[in-house]
Amino acid sequence: LSPVPSDVEISRAQVPKPIWQLAEEVGLLPQELEAYGRSKAKVGLALLARLRHQPNGKYVLVAGITPTPLGEGKSTVTIGLVQALSAHLKLNSFACLRQPSQGPTFGVKGGAAGGGYAQVIPMEEFNLHLTGDIHAITAANNLVAAAVDARILHEATQSDKLPAAASPSSGRGCSADLVAGAREQAEPQQNTLASFSTVIDTNDRFLRKVTIGQAPTEKGHSRQTQFDIAVASEIMAILALADGLADMKARLGRMVVGSSRSGQPVTADDLVREGHPMPLVLGQGTPVFVHAGPFANIAHGNSSILADRLALKLVGEEGYVVTEAGFGADIGMEKFFNVKCRASGLRPDVVVLVATVRALKMHGGGPSVTAGLPLPREYTEENLKLVSEGCSNLKKQIEIAHLFGVPVVVALNIFKTDTQAEIDLVCRVAQASGAEAAVPCHHWARGGRGSVDLARAVKEAAAWENGFRFLYSLQTPIAEKIRTIAQKVYGADDIELSPEAQAKIDYYNQQGYDTLPICMAKTHLSLSHIPDKKGVPTGFILPIRDIRASIGAGFIYPLVGTMSTMPGLPTRPCFYDVDLDPATEEISGLF
Ligand code: ADP
Repeated sequence: LSPVPSDVEISRAQVPKPIWQLAEEVGLLPQELEAYGRSKAKVGLALLARLRHQPNGKYVLVAGITPTPLGEGKSTVTIGLVQALSAHLKLNSFACLRQPSQGPTFGVKGGAAGGGYAQVIPMEEFNLHLTGDIHAITAANNLVAAAVDARILHEATQSDKLPAAASPSSGRGCSADLVAGAREQAEPQQNTLASFSTVIDTNDRFLRKVTIGQAPTEKGHSRQTQFDIAVASEIMAILALADGLADMKARLGRMVVGSSRSGQPVTADDLVREGHPMPLVLGQGTPVFVHAGPFANIAHGNSSILADRLALKLVGEEGYVVTEAGFGADIGMEKFFNVKCRASGLRPDVVVLVATVRALKMHGGGPSVTAGLPLPREYTEENLKLVSEGCSNLKKQIEIAHLFGVPVVVALNIFKTDTQAEIDLVCRVAQASGAEAAVPCHHWARGGRGSVDLARAVKEAAAWENGFRFLYSLQTPIAEKIRTIAQKVYGADDIELSPEAQAKIDYYNQQGYDTLPICMAKTHLSLSHIPDKKGVPTGFILPIRDIRASIGAGFIYPLVGTMSTMPGLPTRPCFYDVDLDPATEEISGLF
């Protein structure tokens, strides 16, 4: 329709195919499905065993240029591409998305179901709770955090009455020796490891630093700690990176949840364990796996290895799986390759790099863009100069994808204000910058038929010779791995390690954690650590404020600049517009 109705109106106008019908169409057996209502189901992992001899389909990663705070349409491109591949090119295909976090849904960016005629339906169920995985992760995470706190208190007050410590998986015999620093941020003098923060799926800035243990029953044991956003929990990363339940259990057990008085790591094996199966949601007649969480800036922000692997088997050798990496290619894609592909052993065939004219104008010097406010004139009228200048960011992100040896197709997500001259300019520059193809995409306004050219370009690129390689070897020292990402991907001159960060490196070296890959926590709004520096910043030194370790998930986690692991709400958050009509039982205001 023109004008395109709101996301929620489009979602409601569709009658979702019943999940059991969709499941049958994609080759699932009834016993492999656990339905959650009519349009969602979880899929049992036994499916992987049944399909183990099936060859994998083509593996396509959707990444993006450095975005505006509004998002540039990676989710819509992912859905639109899968719609075009299946409905128009008649190829088996699957989308793998991440479950939306309530932080952005009620904060700045809105939901993550895609939008227009390229979205996951029913979008309200997708954006709010889904099948409850984030809540389950929150509960599991907080059980560990509570167990750590309680143990610390009991150690201090009644260690004589405590049951004998379970034999710690770290093999260092230190579980009956947890120190209060365990849940605090770094105490470099004690070399305390990553804290085990309590998490909540809400942007609550006042929880960035809190004092706990103020009740009379915990008197004398209060201390400062912090909350993180739930999707930054190590348990979310484990869910995404595990290759099965046994691996998940082992990784959960390996999580370092604190340290002993002598500075030795204490793992979760003494404390608690938890695991989750996998949700499946319905798209516009095409199937979507939704598993694991977003936030490629503070987490690794990719959908799960298990979801991708199941989908690759289900689509078969001629089929396509389109999976999404969060934010710009400098963070989401870099982590997809160096962390996720390393853990899964899967190799991507094509990178689809999403760009918009509006983000390119911002990189070319356009005024800042704020969610909830009308876009300045520069963004609604033709301005070839801004677009041309801003293409520097697109060129750099293409180069970053090529560092990994994978072909790049640029998907220009078209907004109704884009002019033909602007569209032609971007496609020309993309191809001159080495992209294997560059295509305008109209999926938002037209659904799958608006992405047919993209689907054809992806199919062609997937057939090309692919020289996939990692950016660094795991044997490289930690600081050198961070430097390689900073220089080759972000364009920094060098890195600067704080004394805390250096102390952590020394400690991780001692503990034998130095061969883990790196999962940078950096702003998504710039290639550098400074959100206001647009385009391709140069001449900067990347400050590494602290380094944490997620031993269970299996990565080292440097905090760049002032990056926080708990976002805040803006002055006018999205939830102002969300309402429930008691008469129709419908939710409005989600997007
Ligand atoms: P990303 O996945 O990159 O964060 P999304 O796909 O979630 O971006 O899109 C961000 C927002 O922009 C969504 O609300 C979506 O509906 C809207 N959007 C995306 N593409 C278009 C388009 N071509 N025209 C208008 N709105 C769009």
